[in-house]
Amino acid sequence: MTTFDDKPKDECGVVAVFAPEQHAAKLAFYSLQSIQHRGQESAGLAASDGQHLLVHKDMGLVARVFDESSLAALEGHLSIGHVRYSTAGSSIWANAQPAFTETASGTPLVLAHNGNLTNTGELRELIGDPQESDKCTSDSLLLTTLLKTRHNGSTLDTLVEVLPLVTGAFSLTLADNQAIYAARDPHGVRPLMLGRLPDGGWVLASETCGLDIVGAIVVREIEPGEAIRIDEQGIESRRFAEPTPKFCAFEYVYIARPDHQTAETSVYRARFEMGKMLAEQYPVNADVVIGVPDSGAAAASGYAFASGIPYAEALQKNRYVGRTFIQPTQALRQLGIRMKLNPIHDMIDGKRLVVVDDSIVRGNTSRQLMDMLRRAGAKEIHLLVSSPPVKWPCFYGIDMASRAELIAADMTTAQMAEYLGADSVGYLSVEGLIKSTGRAAKSLCVACFTGEYPIAVEDSQMLAGRPEPIRQP
Ligand code: SF4
Repeated sequence: MTTFDDKPKDECGVVAVFAPEQHAAKLAFYSLQSIQHRGQESAGLAASDGQHLLVHKDMGLVARVFDESSLAALEGHLSIGHVRYSTAGSSIWANAQPAFTETASGTPLVLAHNGNLTNTGELRELIGDPQESDKCTSDSLLLTTLLKTRHNGSTLDTLVEVLPLVTGAFSLTLADNQAIYAARDPHGVRPLMLGRLPDGGWVLASETCGLDIVGAIVVREIEPGEAIRIDEQGIESRRFAEPTPKFCAFEYVYIARPDHQTAETSVYRARFEMGKMLAEQYPVNADVVIGVPDSGAAAASGYAFASGIPYAEALQKNRYVGRTFIQPTQALRQLGIRMKLNPIHDMIDGKRLVVVDDSIVRGNTSRQLMDMLRRAGAKEIHLLVSSPPVKWPCFYGIDMASRAELIAADMTTAQMAEYLGADSVGYLSVEGLIKSTGRAAKSLCVACFTGEYPIAVEDSQMLAGRPEPIRQP
């Protein structure tokens, strides 16, 4: 993968399908492909026909990992899947998911996890056997091992017993030979949606696009603190903790696809509202509004709508760069952002620009972008950001950077404008971001903007400024 992209990255996406008399893995494949944006380092599917539970996973994109024959081998009416970008644990095959284990009584179990666990030290102690926990090279494998060691014959009962011991962010899909399962941490930090298939059966996916693609009707979110089991009899729902929702505000800003629909709003509408609010909070005299593809586009449209300044798609994305395993040469890598974006000169030359981006993390990309726009003839550049300054790292599953690397952690907007090469830099307020989501402030996590972490993080992780760097095998 290219290495010059300094946007935040989500750790993972998960899916699950229970589809009697259908090839569930094929449905899960399409569902997984539609949430590919949540992780591009590895992909995997597991499936069971009620007798045998098979897993196929590898490094790379979904379309590269699976072909007709590997999918055909994953027979059965139930399946779960996972795409991964690593934040805790390194980018190695052993950390690709679904993770497989077998309980003492011989029950095979697979698990797919989106999020980041914040009490991994405690989980190691709960596992008890250092030899077992030392084999775990990611937080997800620690949870799988804990479920294996505590398995009491019923996977749902085991989840209800074990999950209260786990702290952090987790949206999970699991399967054994009998059923699929799903669970979401009590704060519901990461999304997890449930849908009904047209021919009967059920599908779960991190985002609604994973349901839409297989023709499923959105039923509801898995509730924070809820664990469910799905089999021929239908859904059995159990609560393992009281819900205290703290949904990740960054899912609205950047991570989720614009067509993901939450109970309150679509992600597109939230981004459009962010842009409208940014226009109120940061009015500028300009000739044209442009959005940084892809996630800046909706907010730029909102800014243009509210300000009356014309909107133009003046940055063309090179869509297939970064979707290949041909590594760019050093000389090409130095071209940086040019590998991904190309300016449309006559939309920029001699113009005063409002450039709307969703976030600035380390600032490398923004700096290159400002330089590219100046070379294309921009007269003025006002870089407006449709989220508040990211000043704190995330411990709940988004790879931001450590605090020392975050450009907004200790620069004023004036210093930032000078450093990046913009005429001015403006950010949306935390209140504006919250309002644009249509959610109550108390139901959102905004910790990377405020430093107020809603879920306890072990000291070792907090001091490192990152999720626990899980040991190498
Ligand atoms: S810290 Fe930021 S990125 Fe992490 S869960 Fe909270 S809002 Fe999302």
